[in-house]
Amino acid sequence: MLEMTHEHWSKRAEGLNPGGAHLIGGSEEAGSGGAFPVVAPRDGRVLTHVADAGAAEVDAAVAAARRAFDSGPWPRLAPAERGRILIRLADLLEEHREELALTISLEMGKPITDAYAIELRAVIATFRWYGQLADKVADESPHTPADALALVTREPAGVVGAVVPWNFPLTLAGWKIAPALAAGCTVILKPSEWSPLSALLLGRLAGEAGLPPGVLNVVNGAGPVAGRALGLHPDVDVVAFTGSTAVGRHFLRYAADSNLKRVWLELGGKSPNIILPDAPDLDKAAATAAWGIFFNQGEMCTAPSRLLVHRSVADQVTEAIVRRAGQLRVGDPLDPATEMGALVGETHLERVLGHISAGVREGARLRTGGGRARPVPGGSYLEPTVFDQVDPGQRLAREEIFGPVLSVLAFDDLDEAVALANATEYGLAAGLWTSDLSTAHRVSRALRAGTVWVNCYEEGDLTVPFGGMKQSGNGRDKSVHALEKYTELKTTWIQL
Ligand code: NAD
Repeated sequence: MLEMTHEHWSKRAEGLNPGGAHLIGGSEEAGSGGAFPVVAPRDGRVLTHVADAGAAEVDAAVAAARRAFDSGPWPRLAPAERGRILIRLADLLEEHREELALTISLEMGKPITDAYAIELRAVIATFRWYGQLADKVADESPHTPADALALVTREPAGVVGAVVPWNFPLTLAGWKIAPALAAGCTVILKPSEWSPLSALLLGRLAGEAGLPPGVLNVVNGAGPVAGRALGLHPDVDVVAFTGSTAVGRHFLRYAADSNLKRVWLELGGKSPNIILPDAPDLDKAAATAAWGIFFNQGEMCTAPSRLLVHRSVADQVTEAIVRRAGQLRVGDPLDPATEMGALVGETHLERVLGHISAGVREGARLRTGGGRARPVPGGSYLEPTVFDQVDPGQRLAREEIFGPVLSVLAFDDLDEAVALANATEYGLAAGLWTSDLSTAHRVSRALRAGTVWVNCYEEGDLTVPFGGMKQSGNGRDKSVHALEKYTELKTTWIQL
């Protein structure tokens, strides 16, 4: 990456022409729904216009996916052959890594270094992992009486509508598409209207990798129009959604009002990060807490946005985080030296600023940040922000902010810490810092969260499942368990 200077990326950005069509049945189509602008949060400029799907385009994409599932080759291919095509797609993503990282950084504002090194690495690894897994799962034949044979098989669940947000546009799409395709399903991807460009590139590369027409379709458009049409469509068998809890509820209603399609939800979070005085390294705990909340501009479903710290070390830890916030380089996402880029856009930035004002009004202490940063004219930047003396009843402690805003709450004993950690409607992730093995086990069991990180945060790989408890969702992405979303169990009982 040495040659990849700010100048290099800025020049490449000028030459980028991502196009903006839908991908339906293997061909790129403008549709009849007009087009919407895609604005770069780094400087507020319009990057391009993208076709805007209405019900007609969604219908066409679902019909293409339905045909590809009901009578196309994909679900009938040998699993190893499906795997080979997914691995080929991983190779193509690797070849196009620069262009994809640049597109993501431009459309949603994350630092190019993170887009290239973290997001693209994850996306490539996801397609490779599920490609390798495709022929390594087996069905069951339970013990039966001597006069019978029973088979329990997993069959592809059908046509999958994947609706995803903008914060990790390709990783989150990949976590759905790769296991769905490995299982033999066909897919309609509806990316966020704030990050549609990278999804189209992925769709093109999938065709180049050998995916038959109609197996992966991409439709762009507004959530309440295109997303809703997918959610209500009678020919969609499964919806795999990542996004806010509010929109997750809509998808459950759409399913109830249509064909009772399976609905898998990866939703919001307000994750607690508990630091005990016996943490193995308090400096590391503080540095990781800061990294966790400011990484990706705080636009992380798993962001450790509630720091629960023992009162005896609260000042020391908070001071260290405030210092780190002051050193953080907020800047142009295309500058490889930038540590925090632009928030996804003005609407979202205004929302986050609203949360900050509410925090000040409700009496929390603003330790640093709280205002716009202006490294590039026209861009949507925010200072890294830390509040302490936050009360558990305040909005800062309860609502998902989805920005670089940390709320620090002090506690006096472990039971209080666990009660505070669980006092949320969400249950996506949690952190815990302690040197005591028993405490580590006891507390991680007591935390109602899909993932608990002990003496680290945001660690893991594709072997472990990811998803939420409570109102953070259901089902799991990643790992072999993701296949459960995209397959149906069938029992065949043969009387001999
Ligand atoms: P969002 O819920 O507004 O949008 C997500 C997707 O749903 C987009 O494609 C959007 O177009 C679509 N959509 C919006 N309104 C819709 C409607 N009425 N009907 C159908 N579809 C609709 O979320 P966002 O702002 O894009 O992303 C931020 C949210 O996503 C946060 O709450 C965050 O926690 C969550 N998230 C969760 C995870 C996870 O894995 N649990 C990961 C990343 C983000």
